[in-house]
Amino acid sequence: MKIKCDFCKTEYNIERMPTAPVKCALCGHTWTVTAPSRKNSWLMFLAALCALLSAVVFTAVVVVTHNAKQERKKPLVATVESVESVRDENGVSHLVVGGSILNQSDDIYGVPDLMIVSYNDAGEVVSQQKFMPSATLLDSGASVQFSHTLSVPVSGVKRVSAYLVDVQEVGDTK
Ligand SMILES: [Zn+2]
Repeated sequence: MKIKCDFCKTEYNIERMPTAPVKCALCGHTWTVTAPSRKNSWLMFLAALCALLSAVVFTAVVVVTHNAKQERKKPLVATVESVESVRDENGVSHLVVGGSILNQSDDIYGVPDLMIVSYNDAGEVVSQQKFMPSATLLDSGASVQFSHTLSVPVSGVKRVSAYLVDVQEVGDTK
């Protein structure tokens, strides 16, 4: 094995681990030879492993936050507030769907087309009717009312819902 003088750095080749302190032939420095420690390399490995683990944890946190951002609430929401049955001049009943579209974002949005979906008893879609609200722009925090008469027979409809089509941001209010 190789040992090195602590003081003058002279290297010596020795057969085996000396049991007593050794003396440098060149400078006279005396020191105790210790076996190369395995503990240090083990600690180094642990440190590297910890660094790797914290890197993994960091990545996971970033990914989760990123996903949460993508799942932020929709800028515009359509709410069906009333469904009334009205009879027209021919005595035929129709459903009048009333509700509102709310802009809950900080930006101005163009009012999108509204799709009004009717469902029957079995929860199947009876009809989907596209409806264009009269308003064109919706300011931040503003809402607009809508009212739409369905062309499908009242009897077949059990539930009505509305969703917005092609929501588009126009600009921000800042
Ligand atoms: Zn020496």
